[in-house]
Amino acid sequence: MKKIIITIDGYSSCGKSTLAKQLAKQLDYVYIDSGAMYRAVTLYFIQNRVDWTSSEAVQTALTNVHLDFVYNALSDACEMLLNGENVEHMIREMVIAEKVSEVAAVKEVREFAVAQQKKMGARKGIVMDGRDIGTVVFPHAELKIFMTADITIRVERRFKELFVKNKNISIEEVKQNLELRDYIDANREISPLRKADDAIILDNSQLGMEEQLELVMQWVEDAIMAHTS
Ligand code: C5P
Repeated sequence: MKKIIITIDGYSSCGKSTLAKQLAKQLDYVYIDSGAMYRAVTLYFIQNRVDWTSSEAVQTALTNVHLDFVYNALSDACEMLLNGENVEHMIREMVIAEKVSEVAAVKEVREFAVAQQKKMGARKGIVMDGRDIGTVVFPHAELKIFMTADITIRVERRFKELFVKNKNISIEEVKQNLELRDYIDANREISPLRKADDAIILDNSQLGMEEQLELVMQWVEDAIMAHTS
């Protein structure tokens, strides 16, 4: 069957990565979490005290950043390597979430990440989630999805995820972080978060996971059919 590129963009904590992983598994595609790349760069900048408001400092720092994804059979997922070190857990911490949108708004950082993301799509058979995947990284993708969900539901989902690791986290803190990230992501100058004109909106506030997968698998079949000559 013809392999396509599937892009999933949308607000923070809409369940983009859950859906992307399910699709990749079902279709035997590669899943790429583009947000993990911005998170890893943020981790590097924090660890190395890089001033990301300075274009020069950012350019120099990025020459020392090497990003890779590695498959972990135990978690059945791809994990982020930063200069050879597995940083999958560290990049999910709140300290990173608090700064990542600022770092991701920096022109040099976006150019750095987008160039690598474009290369990953060269062979098709890929599901990539993020904020600008359907608009900037793969503007010609065969299937583009724009995900959204009620803010209360998104906060609850992210809170549950983070609370497992950190019992001190509060709902209010999570809500503020999601709202701030969404605001910065949607209002930045370079490749702001927005729906591509040809993306299908998926509001999963009231959708169960199985129902959602079934619906999207139908869109995938339709997209493959439409692009098979
Ligand atoms: O997807 P995730 O929430 O892990 O992404 C973390 C942050 O990385 C987002 O809030 C956004 O600022 C940035 N990001 C981006 N473009 C992408 C993916 C993520 O700007 N394609």
